[in-house]
Amino acid sequence: PTTDPLGAFEERESVVRSYCRAFPAVFAAARGSTIFAEDGVEYVDFFCGAGALNYGHNHEHIRRRVIDHLERDGLVHALDCYTPAKRDFLERFGQEVLEPRGLSHRVQFCGSTGTDAVEAALKLARKHTGRAKVIAFSGAYHGVSRGSLAATADLGLRKAAGVPLDEVAFVPFPVGPQGGFPSVALIERMLTDDLSGVELPAAVILEVVQMEGGVYRFPDADLRALRELCDRHGIVLIVDEIQAGCGRTGDFFSFERAGIVPDLVTVSKSISGLGLPMSILLIREGMDSWDSGDHPGTFRGNQLAFVAACAALDLWQRPEFLATARDGARLLRDFWRDNPLPGVEVRCEGHAAGIDLTAVGGRAAANAVVSRCFERGLVVESTGRGKAVVKLLPALNMDLAVLRAGCELIRDAVRSVLP
Ligand code: PMP
Repeated sequence: PTTDPLGAFEERESVVRSYCRAFPAVFAAARGSTIFAEDGVEYVDFFCGAGALNYGHNHEHIRRRVIDHLERDGLVHALDCYTPAKRDFLERFGQEVLEPRGLSHRVQFCGSTGTDAVEAALKLARKHTGRAKVIAFSGAYHGVSRGSLAATADLGLRKAAGVPLDEVAFVPFPVGPQGGFPSVALIERMLTDDLSGVELPAAVILEVVQMEGGVYRFPDADLRALRELCDRHGIVLIVDEIQAGCGRTGDFFSFERAGIVPDLVTVSKSISGLGLPMSILLIREGMDSWDSGDHPGTFRGNQLAFVAACAALDLWQRPEFLATARDGARLLRDFWRDNPLPGVEVRCEGHAAGIDLTAVGGRAAANAVVSRCFERGLVVESTGRGKAVVKLLPALNMDLAVLRAGCELIRDAVRSVLP
C-alpha cells in the first residue's frame, strides 16, 4: 500500500474487530508455525487461529489435496447434496475417528463456525426432550449467537445481546481459581428437590477442558458422575470439543480419557485441518430426533473443508506426526514444570497451556506479556477470568526446537513483567 498500511482497517472496518488490536501487523503469508507480515517481520505462531490451525498453516499435504480438488473442478459449494468429498469424509471420519473409540454417532453438518454447531446441539436437545432449560458452567464459552451466547458465561459478552439470556442456568465449574466445587452433587441436589425452583433441563453443556475459561479440566471422576446423573434424569449431555478437540488437549477428543460417551458433541475449528470453515454435530444413536429439513443452512458443508479434513486425518496415520505431537506435549508440560515463576500457576493440557498471572498483575501483566512477545516475534493471546491468563496454543506438529525457544521467549516475557 502507498498510504498507511492499517488505514483501510481503521477507517472502514467495524470497531468490533479485536484480535488485530493485540497483533497490529498485516499478516500476508504463513507456513507451518511461521507467519510472515507484509513489512517483512516473521512471527512464531503460538495462537493457531484460536485453535483452528492445530496442524499449522498451509500444511503441504493438506493444501495439495485442496489445490488438486480445485484443479479437477471438484464442487466447492453443494448445500447438503451428496458429493464424493462428503462421502469420503463421512466414511473416513467414521472408520478412523469414531469407530476406534466405540462411538456410533451420526454426523450433522451445521454451517461454518463453532457457534453453528452449538446452536444445533441446543436446539436438538430441546426437540428431543421437549424441555427448554439448559445447565452450563461458569467459565464456559460456547459462542456468540442468541442461543449459544446464553450458555456462555462471560458477562461482558452477554451484555452485548440486549435481550434476556435466561434459558441457561450456570453452576460453578468443578475446578477454578477459587478451588474445587462439588458441581455434580449441586446439580443432583437441585434436580431432586421439588422446592428447588430448578426445572429439569433439556441438556447439560460443557467443555471438558475450558479453553477461553483459562485452561481448566473437568475432573474425570466428576465427568463420569455427570454422565450417570444425565442418564438417570434423561438429560442430554453435550460436550463442546470445538477448541479442546482435534488433538489439542492430548487425545483426539477431550472426553476420551474419562471413558464417557456424550450424547452430542460439537466439533469445529481444527477439524478441517487447513483453517477452512467447518462445523459438525455428532449425534448419538437414538438421539437423531430431527425431521428432514428442520435445520437448514446454505453453507452446511464446504467441499474444500471436506477434502482438507480427510487430508488432516491422513496425518493421524503417520507415526512421525504422532511422535512429534506426543513429544511436543511432553516438552510443554516439562518446560513449565521445570521453569516455575513465583506467583504464577501454569496449567498444561496436551498442546494447551494457561499461564495464570491473576496473582501477579492480572490483565495488565498478561497484556504486557502478549505485547512483549509480539515485539519479539511471537504471537500468543490472553484469555480467562479478567483476561489474566496467557494461553499457549502451539501447533501439534511444531518443531520441538521452535517450541522450546518459544516457551523460553514467553517465560522471559513473563519474568520481565513480574513485580
Ligand atoms: N465453543 C468453544 C469451546 C470455543 O472455544 C469457541 C470459539 N472460541 C466456540 C464454541 C465458538 O466457535 P466460533 O467462534 O467458531 O463460532
